[in-house]
Formats: sequence, C-alpha cells, structure tokens
Amino acid sequence: MPKWKQKLFELKWKRYHPDAFSRFAHLLESERLPADQLRERQEEARRKIVRHAMEHTAFYRQHYAASGFEVGDIGTDGWFEKLPPVTKAHLRSHFEEMTDLSQKQFLRLSTTGGSTGTPTKTGFDGRLPEEIYNWRILNWFGVHPGEDRGSLWRATRTTWRQKFVNRALWWPTRHLQLDASFMTESSLRAFLKQFNRLRPACLQGYVGAISQLARFVIDNQIEAWSPKFVWVTSAPLSPVQRKLIADAFHAPVCDQYGSCEIRWIAQQCPEGKGLHVNVEHVHLEYVDEENHPVPAGVYGRTLLTNLEDMVFPLIRYENGDRGRWLLESCPCGRSLPLIDTVKGRESESFVLPSGKTINGEYLTTIFDATPDLARGFRVIQHRDLSITVEYIPSSDQDVPRIESVIRAFSAKIGGEVPVESRVVHEIAHDRGKLRFVVRER
Ligand SMILES: [Zn+2]
Repeated sequence: MPKWKQKLFELKWKRYHPDAFSRFAHLLESERLPADQLRERQEEARRKIVRHAMEHTAFYRQHYAASGFEVGDIGTDGWFEKLPPVTKAHLRSHFEEMTDLSQKQFLRLSTTGGSTGTPTKTGFDGRLPEEIYNWRILNWFGVHPGEDRGSLWRATRTTWRQKFVNRALWWPTRHLQLDASFMTESSLRAFLKQFNRLRPACLQGYVGAISQLARFVIDNQIEAWSPKFVWVTSAPLSPVQRKLIADAFHAPVCDQYGSCEIRWIAQQCPEGKGLHVNVEHVHLEYVDEENHPVPAGVYGRTLLTNLEDMVFPLIRYENGDRGRWLLESCPCGRSLPLIDTVKGRESESFVLPSGKTINGEYLTTIFDATPDLARGFRVIQHRDLSITVEYIPSSDQDVPRIESVIRAFSAKIGGEVPVESRVVHEIAHDRGKLRFVVRER
C-alpha cells in the first residue's frame, strides 16, 4: 500500500476519532503483556464500570439493590459473580433506565438481528473508536486498515446517493460490496470479476455468504484472487466451511466472534488456535445455572461485560450463546486468553422423548472428523421430534461414508427418534447467516 494512501487514511480518522491511533498503539502493546497484568487491569475496569452504572443508571441501581448488592460491596471477595445477569428481556423493557441519561447526547442505537428471536434495540457510546478492534484483526494478518477490501454483508446503503457518499468517505480506500441478502449467479459473477480486478487485501463477510461464494468459485472453476486473509463472522464456522473457503481463495481464514450488543469479542490469529478474547474491551464469562464461572474446557452460558461503554453499560449480559475456554495458550505469544470456536446457540439443543437433551455444540460436530466428505450440512429437529440431516456430498462416492456417519450419530442418540438423511444441493441460509442446527417450533 502506498505511503500517501496510509497517511491520508490516518488524517481522515484523526478528524473523527483523534485518539484512535494512540489507542490502537496501546492495544498492540497490551496483547503481549503478562496475563496477570491483563487480569489486574480488567478487575480495575470492572470496578469502574459497575460503580458508574450503579451511580448513573436507574436500572442497575434497582437491579442490584433487589439482590442486596450495594456500591460498598464492589471489590470485596467474589463480588463480581454476585451481580445478577442482564437479559434480552431487560434490554427490551428497561432501555431508557439502562442509559446514563447525563450523557444521552453520545448514545447511538443499533438493533440486534431477528434470526434468533425478537429483534432487540441496544445502545452504545458513539465516541468510542471501536474500529481499533477491527484494525487489530487486520494487523494480525498484515493488512493496513486503509487497504482495499471486498465484503459480503447485508446492504445498508441501497440508493445511488448513499453509495456515492460512502465511497467518497472511504476514498482512496475501495470497499467492494456484494449484498449478502440477495445473491444470484449473476451478482456472484459480477462481484468476482471486480474482486479479481481490484485485488483487495482482505475478503470479509457473513459465514454463510462467504461459503456460498467459495462454493461458486469451486463449482465453476473460477481462478479467484487470493487475498491476505478471509475474515468471516456472524455465525459458527464449521471445519467443512473453513476448508471450502481456504480451498477457494488459497488464503487463511479468520473466524471472528461478536454479537450485535458487543461486536468485538474475540478472533483468531494466523495460528488459528481458538479465538483470542479482546480483554481490553470485554470481560467474558462462561457460567453454570447459578451464574458461577465453569472451569476451562467446560461449556457454559455466555455472559458479557462491556468494559469501555459508560453511556449504555452492559454488565454480565447474557447473549444466548454457549462456549468454553481453551486450556492451552497460543503459539503466537499473545497473552489474550483463548476461547473455543463458538458452536451453537442454547435454543438449538434438541430434546428427545425421554427428556434427554442433545447439545447444539455436539450437533455441529457430526462431520468434524471427516470434513472432506460433506460440503455442507444442516441438522433439523421437526415438531414430532424426528431428526433430518441434510447434506451436500463432496462427490457421489462419498454418500455411503456419509450415511455411515449419520447412522453412527443415530446410534449415539440411542435410536429414540427416527433419523433421516437427505442429499441437497444447497443449504438454505437466513439472510447470509447459516444456521446448521435448526429446531422447528
Ligand atoms: Zn494466537
């Protein structure tokens, strides 16, 4: 990337967020700090945000008072785990009270996706340069934030005017976009043509949409430009999809985890060992039914605390995902702790007639041992509790082996319900988000 382009990019950013670059420099330092130093900083940040929320929002004052927690308890033994979690229902019914009204002028709104339930409104502090967490990912893969990118998102700028303004704002950086909600053969072809001409440093987008593009590249034997890396987000990434994307673009794949309420939670480094948590920004916990943290390696419900947002504090917010900490550290030497790739959502667990539950995490791993056999799959539980496994075989010869994997799965759940299999040509996705465990209700 030419130096003048870098300089121009930095000058523009300094107008919007004067401190973004100094904050970013701090991030790159802190990811190499000793782990106990990071933990100390986190504890300090948690005390600050909880105190602030209790003193400046009606919601947290009442929410904590109802469980007997007072400001004076902050910092005492095991204090943080005594705080009752915040749920989506709280967001819906107490939005105003959760806001620090004295700083309301900085509040910005965003709406969480509707694919997993009711869309929910959430708020954030518009002054925070969250982009620096985006830059961190690019930096890990050797990309400057001012370099060109190709992206597959749901289009938010649809008019010519909006598109023009967006392009002018980003200039001289080019952002090539493909609307992930309506992908057709001709739109895929047109995108790839421009993609090969522009040769962007990075390709990013929804897991489902990028997988579909990768499938298209391979099926049509298209020679696609190989970016420095492909960055996917918004849904669990299966080993099958990872291989497909890497094969299509001959590039490493970065799995990033975020939710609409807190976008920059964790991401993979080029070593690809689990996802590094952005501990400067978010405190992540995996907890049991009593909201106590579970040991590393054990799956639990996700609670998230935004450590930087004083305008719309989110403390121990339950986002509905399940996950676990990894025991190992990453060979890259960064001390940001590692979580496992995020598998399924709580709602996606299946229930059998005997009352036994099959975990969503397990359901997504059926083909993990044999990622070459199926190009894609989806497990569906119907209302009568019977199960269908849909899959796209890599080739006709693979069908018998896939069928035996499915029979093994059926045996594993004790044959309690019929398990059928179905060969499909495409796995349906929901606005670019692929859900590979579906429970019909
Ligand atoms: Zn690493």
